[in-house]
Amino acid sequence: MLPNTIKKFVTRLFAGARGGPERLSVEKHGIDRRKVSRHAIKVCEVLHQHGYEAYVVGGAVRDLIVGIQPKDFDVATNATPEQIKPLFRRARIIGRRFRLVHVVFGPEIIETSTFRAPSAPGNGHTDEHGRILRDNEYGTHEEDAARRDFTLNALYYDPITEEVIDFHRGVADLQNRVVRMIGDPEQRYREDPVRMLRAVRFASKLSATIEPATLAPIRRLAPLIDHVPASRLFDETLKLLTCGHAMDCLRKLREVGLHQDLLPLLDVVFNVPEGEQFVDLALARTDIRVHTGKPVSPSFLFAALLWKLVYQRWQALVAAGGHPTQTLLEAADSVLDEQARKMAIQRRFIADIREIWFMQARFERVNARAIWRMMDQPRFRAAVDFLQLRAEAREVDSVMAQWWMDLANAGPDDRGPMIEAYQATQRGQKAGAGTRKRRRRRPRRKPDAGHSTVNGAPT
Ligand code: ATP
Ligand code: MG
Repeated sequence: MLPNTIKKFVTRLFAGARGGPERLSVEKHGIDRRKVSRHAIKVCEVLHQHGYEAYVVGGAVRDLIVGIQPKDFDVATNATPEQIKPLFRRARIIGRRFRLVHVVFGPEIIETSTFRAPSAPGNGHTDEHGRILRDNEYGTHEEDAARRDFTLNALYYDPITEEVIDFHRGVADLQNRVVRMIGDPEQRYREDPVRMLRAVRFASKLSATIEPATLAPIRRLAPLIDHVPASRLFDETLKLLTCGHAMDCLRKLREVGLHQDLLPLLDVVFNVPEGEQFVDLALARTDIRVHTGKPVSPSFLFAALLWKLVYQRWQALVAAGGHPTQTLLEAADSVLDEQARKMAIQRRFIADIREIWFMQARFERVNARAIWRMMDQPRFRAAVDFLQLRAEAREVDSVMAQWWMDLANAGPDDRGPMIEAYQATQRGQKAGAGTRKRRRRRPRRKPDAGHSTVNGAPT
């Protein structure tokens, strides 16, 4: 193999001669090689040793340049999946439409894909709005860069020479914090309308502006989001909400005209009284979790986003004389049904969201036995967190919410005494109120009946 310095010199010479991509040295892009996954480096090295080109690509390069630790590392190469697989001990080919290789190193997977060509317009691979239905042809390095969405996402890092290969002046855009579409923005949005949401997400995440020509068609093309499969819309919305700048993303979506009737969640957030404030609180907590590397529960997020709407309907039903638990169930299902028409919230999340909501009614109407039962529920902790959020939004009593939080945090030995103390207070309250005889020897059949705790702190 050529020593690195000679290789660098030769590649630069060729690049200059044919006006190819820019090759930026460490001084220009500033990537600290120690921050690059050693497994991604390994994949590139092995491929190089076998005569292939291979680079770290996409989001990881973008994030490293601006000093964010990437979530994952992808590699792009001119080797085909069949050529890649035998070079690694644990590698599997995945994907039916476009085949790529997962190279596995313990818990880390390096997604390794072959350079791909953009789908040529009019080749029969698009629907009537220009949306790409198939793009599964291998291509050159240059073509692979051209099929990517934004210039700042089309960067290739060579861990051997430590150069960044930049076909579209993406490093400059990144350093100037500009989100710029590669190619004709309108055509690229028609090919894949999700790119409109991605533009907003990267602008928020990187505190960047969307370049005027990239921004201009969005408002007009926003209705194309309608043709995106619901599951993809769900995935993209989740990415928006967990990028660490969630509220900013939602506000930007609204600014650029992407919210109206497209993501019904957003209409909910901004149109329900106090909806914005509640969601603001929820998303601020989420952002903090993202920035401190803690996991974010999608169920909790969607439960929070939709809550004000559920709450509003629930309160109306209760005011009309409905049973508190029963009406919460009704309100929840009507809201979830409406959402499902647009965005496919996955089934497992729906079950969790309902559980988080239903426990809200029970926090306020509960006896000792029911408390023990609630603690056994898998979503108990999430529901208590949710109660705290409601207390922060001044929807419920904060002392009550804190009591539940303390209970959730208490060790197994402390829980019994806490609940006993609670029970004693309950008895005290009843005795004080003088509405009941002293203790009954035999417990009544309906354990929930008669406990006056709506919004009352059980302490
Ligand atoms: P993050 O992982 O932080 O969400 P990312 O840029 O890595 O951001 P991915 O969805 O993981 O996003 O995609 C990896 C790369 O694939 C992107 O950087 C981009 O180059 C390309 N890409 C992803 N989605 C699209 C798309 N809809 N159109 C064109 N290129 C895309
Ligand atoms: Mg990624």
